Amino acid sequence: MSEATTPRFRSVLDHFVAYKPGKVVVSPEGRSFKLSSNESPQGPLPSVQKAIELAARNINRYPDNNATALVEAIASRFGVTPEHIAVGCGSVGVSQMLLEAVAEPGVEVVYAWRSFEAYPLLVGLSGATGVQVPLADETHDLDAMADAITDRTRLVFVCNPNNPTGTIVRRAELLRFLDRVPPHVLVVLDEAYREYVRDEDVPDGMDLFRELDRPNLAILRTFSKAYGLAGLRIGFVVAHPAVATAIRKTYLPFSVNSIAQTAGVASLAATDELLARVDETVKERHRVRDGLLADGWTVPPTEANFVWLRLGERTLDFSSACDAAGVSVRPFAGEGVRVSIGSPEENDAFLSVAHAYPHRN
Ligand code: PMP
Repeated sequence: MSEATTPRFRSVLDHFVAYKPGKVVVSPEGRSFKLSSNESPQGPLPSVQKAIELAARNINRYPDNNATALVEAIASRFGVTPEHIAVGCGSVGVSQMLLEAVAEPGVEVVYAWRSFEAYPLLVGLSGATGVQVPLADETHDLDAMADAITDRTRLVFVCNPNNPTGTIVRRAELLRFLDRVPPHVLVVLDEAYREYVRDEDVPDGMDLFRELDRPNLAILRTFSKAYGLAGLRIGFVVAHPAVATAIRKTYLPFSVNSIAQTAGVASLAATDELLARVDETVKERHRVRDGLLADGWTVPPTEANFVWLRLGERTLDFSSACDAAGVSVRPFAGEGVRVSIGSPEENDAFLSVAHAYPHRN
């Protein structure tokens, strides 16, 4: 292409690189184990598969823009009314909607760092300023996050468990934090990995939401992880009706498609079966972490479907060793590697790479 003058873009884009999803690698022997995106290792349940096939017959029609059946099913699952709910194209889409509702130049959005890599991207695109509060001991430092709130702050993300460290925020510290947050600041508790939590000190955001009845607390969830529907892109937020109404105003028309809506409803109807699968992942999580610890690795306790290895300068070297064995992991250069918990076979493939690697972290 010629060096022609291009149209003008927003200056904020100059500093951005597009989101880089977890990759897939194949070993020279043709082996491929994808442990880079925290997905469910299992495909849809037969009942969900059937619902998807039925819904696929009607895709000449637009989806229900209000996602009525899905919203009702979410409301009844979590003991709230439909007025409390906004849905979107993945919880990343809902995060963007949340920011569309509160963010503009001059506004600050506080979040921990390192945390979910979409936060800086979405905050930057919104025109707001991101305020990153370093993790302490791989965990949210909620006192420092409360200290970081100013008159300009309108939103705080708390990712619990945190991606990519798997670490958690406990009930007492979260309550203390919420007491310090002024009412005009919306706290978004991102619980993408909630279903994998087994530590009883970690509050379930939905219980907390009903119990506290605070207009500035919103709970963000996804169908992409425990519910195994990453490819269909459904996320939702439970919030005070006034907050949910504002968020719904930012909904890109029809952005939760009809197959996704139907699959979401069918998945909620099969919650028990899906959560039984989550138990298997939790068991594997223990096996993987225990195996790594026994092998001399340092691995923070994790309540999510992944483990975190802080590797610093060795990060890319270790991820290349994984690539060579066909195990795709998620490296954060100079920091560490996040490895999803997959099927027993996938986890074994990862454990053998870690075992054979000549250094420990
Ligand atoms: N929040 C967190 C903490 C995540 O790790 C992810 C996925 N990696 C998401 C939100 C987004 O999930 P989705 O858009 O698939 O719902």
